[in-house]
Amino acid sequence: MQFHSQTKCAKRTGWVTSELYYWHDTQGWCGFFEPGLTLQPGVHFENPETKRRFHGLVEALDLAPQLQAHRPTAATDETLRMVHPQSHIDHIAQVCASGGGDSGELTPVGPASLDIARLAVGGVCDAVDKVIEGTWDNAYVLCRPPGHHAEPEKAMGFCLFANAALGVKHAQKAHGIKRIATVDWDVHHGNGTEAIFYDDPSVLTISLHQDRLYPAETGDYTDLGQGAGAGANLNIPLPPGSGSGAYRAAFEDLVIPALEAFQPEMIFVPSGFDSCALDPLGCQMLASTDYAWMTVRLMEVADKHAKGRIIVTHEGGYSPIYVPYCGLAALEALSGADATFKDPFAAVVAAYGGQALSRDQKDLIDKVKEAYFNS
Ligand code: ZN
Repeated sequence: MQFHSQTKCAKRTGWVTSELYYWHDTQGWCGFFEPGLTLQPGVHFENPETKRRFHGLVEALDLAPQLQAHRPTAATDETLRMVHPQSHIDHIAQVCASGGGDSGELTPVGPASLDIARLAVGGVCDAVDKVIEGTWDNAYVLCRPPGHHAEPEKAMGFCLFANAALGVKHAQKAHGIKRIATVDWDVHHGNGTEAIFYDDPSVLTISLHQDRLYPAETGDYTDLGQGAGAGANLNIPLPPGSGSGAYRAAFEDLVIPALEAFQPEMIFVPSGFDSCALDPLGCQMLASTDYAWMTVRLMEVADKHAKGRIIVTHEGGYSPIYVPYCGLAALEALSGADATFKDPFAAVVAAYGGQALSRDQKDLIDKVKEAYFNS
């Protein structure tokens, strides 16, 4: 068994990490509920372990020295205000100063969470600077807390600030990038990213998610954007049980054609590995090899239209066993590095029944095609 990488990276890939990302404290909640007399205190699903183990695997396999390591800087209020009003920032500050608690909807924080969330946003903005200036080809930001559920005035679904959306705004405002696409493969709907750009034709927001998982009331394929942004929002609400066949068909029939039509100058990937087969919150079926495949397909579009510029921001993923291997697969694809280490779970997951595209999955994809491309 080979434990150390032998090949050099084909790409200069930024690797934005911080020990402080793991110190965001979700308060020992029980799954995703605040403990009480009928809920024993436990471990919140959004705890450091999945990300820390991904980080650890990259170190253990000697991949880290082949990446462009970077310590994030903290985002200022001015940066956060590109999406969030000062009242939202002040609210998070107040909850943190009080010792912590729920900062919005199902989003517990600890005393240091505001400062750590600033590092998550700052890490994404740093990556934007490095990629656009040409120091890096692309980047992976292993940030925490996540961001894609955060709406301008509301912390939601474990997310305080809209990490990827703020990166998009920063790329547009500081660097003059005009057309940007986001492709969110987290198992939950990227409602925050959608809300922020819903009437904005300069940002194509795409979300592949499990139908009505969270938030249950958003993510419908008939939500296509509004006003000037009409046609610049693509939701692909896949049925529970969707695996390799469904995701690959959704990519080939919807994601890639939508990107080709939009011709983005930069692509952001809010990347949740809770669409993997071993996740405790999602009911999808992906293996690590599927994340590598999706990454490569996006890189092909980025090479064609966006000078290869892709920024991956870490979102959900709650299997401490499998997230590290899914993350590693995406990171290997992004960097061109080869960890020369086989995911021990991939063959098991790939052999699960139901990985092939089913009739109901195909019907859904066809309905989304009809709604999106004929809108
Ligand atoms: Zn998620």
